[in-house]
Amino acid sequence: MKAYLRIVPILIVSILFTSCIKDEKTEQIVESKAEKSNKVGSITLVIHGGAGTILKKNMTPEKEQAYRKKLDEALQTGYAILEEGGTSMSAVVAAIQVMEESPLFNSGIGAVYTHEGRNELDASVMDGNTGKAGAVAGVTTIKSPIRAALEVMNNSPHVMMAGPGAETFAEEQGLEMVDNSYFGTERRKKALEKALEKEADKTSDLLQYQDWKYGTVGAVALDKDGNLAAGTSTGGMTNKRYGRIGDSPIIGAGTFAENISCGVSATGHGEYFIRNAVAYDIAARMKYLNISVEESAKEVIQKKLVDKGGSGGVICLDRSGNIAMEFNTLGMYRGYMQNGEAHVFIYKNE
Ligand code: ASP
Repeated sequence: MKAYLRIVPILIVSILFTSCIKDEKTEQIVESKAEKSNKVGSITLVIHGGAGTILKKNMTPEKEQAYRKKLDEALQTGYAILEEGGTSMSAVVAAIQVMEESPLFNSGIGAVYTHEGRNELDASVMDGNTGKAGAVAGVTTIKSPIRAALEVMNNSPHVMMAGPGAETFAEEQGLEMVDNSYFGTERRKKALEKALEKEADKTSDLLQYQDWKYGTVGAVALDKDGNLAAGTSTGGMTNKRYGRIGDSPIIGAGTFAENISCGVSATGHGEYFIRNAVAYDIAARMKYLNISVEESAKEVIQKKLVDKGGSGGVICLDRSGNIAMEFNTLGMYRGYMQNGEAHVFIYKNE
């Protein structure tokens, strides 16, 4: 019995000792990961203008040139803000506004039509430093939905506002309001007419048809303070039903930003991106599996999403300035600017 009593304190001391060693080891691992993510890269802006069946054979040289020029303009506009010391959020919003104002993309002017023949817009932003986010959904009269998303983040206690309420809020914030017809274009009207024809023809596959092109716009930026921000703006999908909301205004699906992992903006068949929490999944895999932004984006877009039958793509950026532009469609309007140089791409093998 006495011998037993002597052994007990020795056992307790040795257990405490080994657990201390373990704690030290864990701390070392955590520290080294944190150190890695603290290596801040140079200011960077990544953008997309939508993914889909974008083929050179269906493009005229003029059209291709127009896309490349507008993507470049969006990059230069956002990057100039970063160069002047502006925040990643300001750069994201400015780059997206350039694309919202262009009829080439499915956001702002040039948004696709709903089944009923009007434009209902969704947008969101997220700040990777504070974790704050803002979104608007199903809005029809706010000239710049991305700006409205920013106002929700900055000037309301909420994350997402929808429909007429979001519009009243935007007006109260002094944002420019427009008639719904402001967003309309002939090209998108024709796309709706075609979709309605396909829908009436029960022998054709409407989903297959819808897949031909998306066109949502998005941006992710890294500023001089090492802060990430992401944003996405869209008209949704042609022939969508009343009140349908896609992934673009949903934090964790179409948009996500977190300094310790990455910033993400998505484009594609929104329902799949919502169900698979695509933007957050890419960030989470980086943290939990300790993998790079490129590996994580590839895994989610090329494996997980493909297995589920979802098409589309993402742009991602981490704090060290590593970029991923991953898509499982035939093309994605995309580009990035880093070290003062802008690069723009459209097709798959560029
Ligand atoms: N993701 C958007 C949506 O489903 C569409 C797109 O990316 O163009 O609303």
